[in-house]
This record gives sequence, C-alpha cells and structure tokens, in this order.
Amino acid sequence: MIAVRYPWPEGKKSAAVLSFDFDAESGFLFREPEKARRSLGDLEERRFGPRVGVDRILRLLDRLKLRATFFIPGWTVEHHFEACRRIRDAGHEIGAHGNVHEALGFLDEEQEERVMREQLEILARHLGVRPAGYRSPSWDVNVWTPDLLKRHGFLYDSSLMGNDVPYDVPTTQGPLTEVPVQWLLDDAPLFRHVYGATNAIADPGRVLQMWSKEFAAMHEENGCFVLTCHPFVSGRASRIALLDDLVTFMRRARGVWFTTCEEVARWHASGPAPANARPAATRPASASGARSGARGRRRRSPANRRGRG
Ligand SMILES: [Zn+2]
Repeated sequence: MIAVRYPWPEGKKSAAVLSFDFDAESGFLFREPEKARRSLGDLEERRFGPRVGVDRILRLLDRLKLRATFFIPGWTVEHHFEACRRIRDAGHEIGAHGNVHEALGFLDEEQEERVMREQLEILARHLGVRPAGYRSPSWDVNVWTPDLLKRHGFLYDSSLMGNDVPYDVPTTQGPLTEVPVQWLLDDAPLFRHVYGATNAIADPGRVLQMWSKEFAAMHEENGCFVLTCHPFVSGRASRIALLDDLVTFMRRARGVWFTTCEEVARWHASGPAPANARPAATRPASASGARSGARGRRRRSPANRRGRG
C-alpha cells in the first residue's frame, strides 16, 4: 500500500470545504472610507451579497445537502442581521472575519486585540455564536496574530498558504491549527471587475476547468481543497451554476470528505497527521494523547454538530 500524505477520517482520500466570506460593504468601508461616503455604485455592488447572493448560495447548499463555512465581519452581522441569521439557522458554520474587515497590516497589536474583542462580542450578542475559526480579512496576517487567536480561544485560522493540508502554526501557547487557503481557489481575483486592474472578468467555464483541475490534482495528493467565495461575487447567476457544476464534478471522485473548516480543524487537532505535517514537539498532550492512532475514527456527520469553542 502506498503511504498517504495526510490521513483523513474513515480512509477518505481528500477533504473539500466550500467557504464564503460574507464581507458585504465592510471591506470597502475600511479601505476607502472617503469614497464609501459618496459612491452608491460601489456600495450597491457589495449589497448584492446580502440582498441576493447569500440566499442563492443557501438554496444551492440546501439542494446539494452540503454544510459550508461562512466567515462574517462584525459590521456585516450588525447591518445585515437577517441574512446572517438565515446562514446560522441553516446550520452552517460561522467564523470570525474582522469587525469592519480591517486589513491586519494596518493594525498594531493593541488595535488588533481591540478589534478581536469587538468582533467576538458582536457575534455572541447578535447570533449567539462563539466561533471556532478565524479568517483574516484579505488573508492579511501579522506575526503576532496566531498568539492573539490562541489567547481568544480559537481552534483554527484559515488565512495562510503554507501547505495544502491542515498544519500547525506555533504560538507561545501551543500550536494553532491552520486550514490553508490559496489564491487559485478564491473567486475575487477571477471574477471581480476593478478598473485599471490587469485581469479581465473570467469566463465561468474557464474557472470551472481551473478549479476542477486543482481539485482533481489535490485529491490525488490527499489535499484539503478550500474554496473561498464571496456572496457579492459568486452570488451572480452563472457563478452559482458554476459551483453546482464543480460539486457535481467533485462528487464523481471516490473518497472525498465534504466538510467544514471547523471539522477539518477538529480532525487535525485530534492528532491524525503524519510526522511530516506537524512538529511533534509543539503538539499539546491534552489534544493528542487519548486519540493517537485515530485514523479510523468515525466522521462526524453534519447533524452531529459540536458546541463551539
Ligand atoms: Zn473578506
């Protein structure tokens, strides 16, 4: 038998997660506050997410019987509560994604700590959610961010590109699980129109081919395929059809674990990874001891949802 590169539950060959970053207007408000005071055009482009995109995505996920992960900034929760509530009530995982989509490169450690407390407070107060996971806005991560996440009780981060299977990011309080992302699997650089940018709006057929090829190759490599989409970008009609076609393609492969970022992180933290994927010295005894050799552990079904944090 050929050794697998990363062992997934029940002998699955790879994992696949559909994730959605529900930014709405928040990123625009943070990056271009002056323009955001006058440009109804830019605001409305992003309001397509809460107004149309989210519900299209929820209907698609319902039809496909898939549970997904939504990363939601505090600002979006406060200003588009009903859409967020529908995401929560449909049983999808909700992760943290900044407050007003603050790019962490603009924040010092103290500011980042304050923003972290604000977003957690908003998620708890409005949605009753204590997120297990965090995705930094624009995938912008400071060197101190993993420690901050650990201090605030996060199980995992999903913003880094250092591997294509889950891995450990060291912190002073033990490892933080990373559920990695990559630009190739992000809808924004492919589909968003930005004046002056070099990219043209991509043909959904070409994107289906790109994502299908990446999935097929990652599946052979026992990878963790994490797709990142935005409701205001991928909520457009032909792109919902693309996601539908992509899942149909992926379901033809044998042994794919369709899951959420949280379930991937829980699996990883339970200690199944081979030595080359995690430094043993940083592995916390409490998370690994009782479950070593957990390769055959049963998969948690979507219905068997765990309490957060
Ligand atoms: Zn975002």
